[in-house]
Amino acid sequence: MSDNMAQHETDMAQHPTDMAQHETEHVPTHARVLVVGGGNGGISLAARLNRQGVDDVVIVEPRVEHQYRPLLSYVGAGLASIEAARRPQREAMPSGSTWVRDAVERIDPHASTVALRSGATIGYDQLVLAAGSRPDWAAIDGSAEVMLAENASTNYLFDLAPKTWRLIDGMRAGTALFTMPDATCPCAGAAQKVLYMACDLWRSRGVLDDIRVVLTVPTDTVFGVPGVDEELMRKVAEYGIELRTNTTVRALDRETNTATLEADGRTEDLPYDLLHLTPPHAAPAWVKQSGLSSEQAAGFGRRRPRHAATPPLPERLGDRRHRGHAGVELRRGAAQGDARRGEEPAGGARREGTAAAVPRLHRQPVHRQPAHHGVRRVRSGRDADAEF
Ligand SMILES: Cc1cc2nc3c(=O)[nH]c(=O)nc-3n(C[C@H](O)[C@H](O)[C@H](O)COP(=O)(O)OP(=O)(O)OC[C@H]3O[C@@H](n4cnc5c(N)ncnc54)[C@H](O)[C@@H]3O)c2cc1C
Repeated sequence: MSDNMAQHETDMAQHPTDMAQHETEHVPTHARVLVVGGGNGGISLAARLNRQGVDDVVIVEPRVEHQYRPLLSYVGAGLASIEAARRPQREAMPSGSTWVRDAVERIDPHASTVALRSGATIGYDQLVLAAGSRPDWAAIDGSAEVMLAENASTNYLFDLAPKTWRLIDGMRAGTALFTMPDATCPCAGAAQKVLYMACDLWRSRGVLDDIRVVLTVPTDTVFGVPGVDEELMRKVAEYGIELRTNTTVRALDRETNTATLEADGRTEDLPYDLLHLTPPHAAPAWVKQSGLSSEQAAGFGRRRPRHAATPPLPERLGDRRHRGHAGVELRRGAAQGDARRGEEPAGGARREGTAAAVPRLHRQPVHRQPAHHGVRRVRSGRDADAEF
């Protein structure tokens, strides 16, 4: 199983001379805003900053291929091609930002520097962590091995989305198991999108009645969001989906094609003929090691705590300031999400969060920050634990 970083290495090795106009071979020693990760979150924030006149924005991104992951649900359902979901990274990069094609290996938030895989170091005034998350294969026994099996797939790995479609397309009878994790994952809703599209296809082909479709969710209800739940339950009933609430996949066995499910403290082995797994995700190891994360945040950046009453959604999504380091912003993929959908780490949600973060980054002077929430002024990027 190749992980994201192995993919980065492949990308970098395959296209060593593919330089974008704004990509630089000369790594700057300092950036006013340093964005780690050129995915949807990083590039949209950088582009907004550029539009507002912040011109010293550096994006560190190792991939030469930009992957538009929301399309993977449709690739898995046979409604889009995988080619449509990729394009050269240089085309996605905002022209007003500088792209350093490298990977961050360490962050020193006290010195306000990041160390790159190439050995270079870049200092920053403001750091935006937008490096996404990655499947946590260790969280479910046997999950990585199962992904190599003929009858299992996940849209959460770019290269496997076409395999999902092959499995759905070939299914005529048996048990199809779709899962949602009890931990964070990008766009938890994507775990169910492919399910409903598959059922629709199977029904149109007249095979749905021969397929036992099982959906496991960790929540009390199908999605954990009133309003959405009612609508989805209509489809669950219509397609005859066997909904298992408060259920978590604990183990997968490639030899027996069996999932071990846990619900209310009891376990059950469920054999399947088709598995679409939504793996729990985790923060990159170097974020965990940076001192910017905590156990409570599952290794992701620690955000500032909420205040008094829960603010309305756009405001909630907007506050991505790091809890301890005032010069650090967390984009959604890098910020913790909650599988119970109170906080969805999805691209749509990111749009509002990005819009809210830009003015903060834009107006912060290089070496001083305004006090937040009546707290003392802190030096940008310096330890600001006294903020609370
Ligand atoms: C199957 C699927 C369907 C989805 N459907 C939807 C949808 O319908 N609607 C929706 O709103 N969202 C959807 N999402 C979620 C959405 O795709 C993600 O929320 C979004 O891609 C996350 O953007 P990001 O920039 O935070 O992270 P990513 O897209 O993961 O980008 C992170 C970037 O950081 C880079 N990086 C990683 N490590 C390093 C490093 N060490 N140094 C520098 N750079 C690094 C990576 O190469 C990558 O380019 C879906 C996701 C999936 C998987």
